[in-house]
Amino acid sequence: MKPKTPGPAGRKAMLCVHELFHSIQGEGPFSGRPAVFLRLSGCVKPYCSFCDTSEALEKGKEFSEEKVLDEILSYKTSLVVITGGEPFLQWQTGLQDLESSLMDQGLEVQYESSGRAGIPENVQGKVVLSPKPGQWPSPEISKRAFALKPLMEEDPEPVLTAIQETGFPPEKIWLMALGASREEQLQRMPLLWETCRKHGYHFCPRLHILVHDRKKGV
Ligand code: SF4
Repeated sequence: MKPKTPGPAGRKAMLCVHELFHSIQGEGPFSGRPAVFLRLSGCVKPYCSFCDTSEALEKGKEFSEEKVLDEILSYKTSLVVITGGEPFLQWQTGLQDLESSLMDQGLEVQYESSGRAGIPENVQGKVVLSPKPGQWPSPEISKRAFALKPLMEEDPEPVLTAIQETGFPPEKIWLMALGASREEQLQRMPLLWETCRKHGYHFCPRLHILVHDRKKGV
C-alpha cells in the first residue's frame, strides 16, 4: 500500500456519509462493474419532488477522511463510485482529499452528480452527470463531465432538446428511463430502446432496479 498523501495543511478532512456498501454499478459507462459505493449526505435545495434517494438528503454521520478511506480499502475493490445527494457539496471539506487518497492507492474514482452544485475544475475522477428534468446545468459545467446519463420521461422531446444544447456527442450519452420500480422501467424500455437507436445514444438499463426493484443499498 502506498503512503497516504497529506491533505491541505491545518484542515481536518471530514465527510458526512449516508452509507457505504459494496455492489455492482447498475447504470452508465461503468455498468456491470463491482464497486464500492460511497453515498454522501446532502443536496442543493429545493430538493427534487421525484428524488429516489430522499433518505440521503438530511441524514448522515460525520467521519474523518482516513476512516472512510480505510472502510473503502477493506473491500479490495478497483472502482469507487461516489454519489449522493450531491457529492460535490463536500468537495472543499473532505472529498477532494479522499479522491487524492483513493488515486494514490491506484483506485478508479467515478462520481454520480446532478451538476446542481457545479463540477470542480480540478476533479480527477470521472464525472458521470445525471441532470434532473428541468434542472440541467450550464454547458460550461456539463463540458467537465466524462459522460451524460440523463433521464427520459414519457415524452422524449424535453431530454432530446436538453442533450442537443450540451453539444455532447451521442457516444457519450447513456440514456435512461425515469422510474424507480422494475415495472416502470420495463414499461418504458421499448420507447427508450427506439429513442437510443434513432439518436445513436447508449441504451442504459438500470440494472439494480431490474434485479432488486425498489430495494435500497444494493
Ligand atoms: S439532485 Fe438528485 S439527490 Fe438531489 S434532490 Fe434531486 S434527485 Fe435527489
